[in-house]
Amino acid sequence: TSGATEALSWVLQSLVWEGMQQDRDELIVCATEHKAVLSTAEAMGRRHGTKVVVLPVDRNGVASAEELRGLITERTVAVAVMAANNETGVLGPVAEVAAVCRAAGVPYVCDATQMIGKLPFNAKELGVDYVALSSHKMYGPKGIGALWVGRAARKRKLEPLIYGGGQESGWRSGTVAVPLVVGFGAAAEFALAEMAAEAVRVRALRDSMEAELLAKCARVAVNGGGAPRLPNSLSVSFPCVDAVALLSACPSFAASAGSACTSRNSGASHVLVAMRLDINRLDTVIRIGIGVGANQRDINIAGQQIAQTFATLSAMNS
Ligand code: PLP
Repeated sequence: TSGATEALSWVLQSLVWEGMQQDRDELIVCATEHKAVLSTAEAMGRRHGTKVVVLPVDRNGVASAEELRGLITERTVAVAVMAANNETGVLGPVAEVAAVCRAAGVPYVCDATQMIGKLPFNAKELGVDYVALSSHKMYGPKGIGALWVGRAARKRKLEPLIYGGGQESGWRSGTVAVPLVVGFGAAAEFALAEMAAEAVRVRALRDSMEAELLAKCARVAVNGGGAPRLPNSLSVSFPCVDAVALLSACPSFAASAGSACTSRNSGASHVLVAMRLDINRLDTVIRIGIGVGANQRDINIAGQQIAQTFATLSAMNS
């Protein structure tokens, strides 16, 4: 596919379409899903009258498989619960969700875009039916991703999003972008070879940044800090300090205010709202992703800059 967005949008549309043929019209999506899932679900509601049922998360951003069990009905067409959140790095209960879906005979669509390449993810062992992933999250080229379809799900017909000459076994027509495919494959090989060591390295960097901010910035809070998280992700909220102002005063590194994917859209992050973050803190969140190029020196510089800027802005605001 052209990325995880297309993979998610495609499989959800196909499953809704299949459900419509069998008088099933309910789609369960986790509240913190990426917009690729949430906007597709909304569109299915507008276009086909699909009932979108939202699976809530707790204050750490974790969904409950037990709660999911209570939401599934005989009208459910699919369940979407992500493997790792793009704003907080919080991991989803994938194996538990897969078990609930399998028992109910409902297909499980898992957005593993942030997870794959950072932590082990074995879709077959986990029992997931469909997995969406993206090349650029593992340092491959932009513009390519994949939809992995599990053995059980292959019995189901996947209705194409793009029709034409029948490439990719008829699932996605159009001339295959060979350079992107090769780049994606190479990136996946590198990611697999380096993942274990890189996870240990970036977790140590993330933890040192987190410890520095917690020590130096009064009342700073780590979003999702009580849940298992990706090793490279850190989302923190600062009391009474605007995140955009804070980051503008720290030009030597790049980080995001709230959600990078939606930073051009106005409004609070739906992820932080779903986690019931204090309304006064929604604009105070910065999100740091530690990449392959970062080292301890970078982390020290960034941590010091953030702490100093926070102190200056807090003094101005008080
Ligand atoms: N899902 C998650 C969790 C993401 O982080 C992203 C991209 O940021 C996407 C889906 C969309 O991926 P793509 O840009 O490959 O369409």
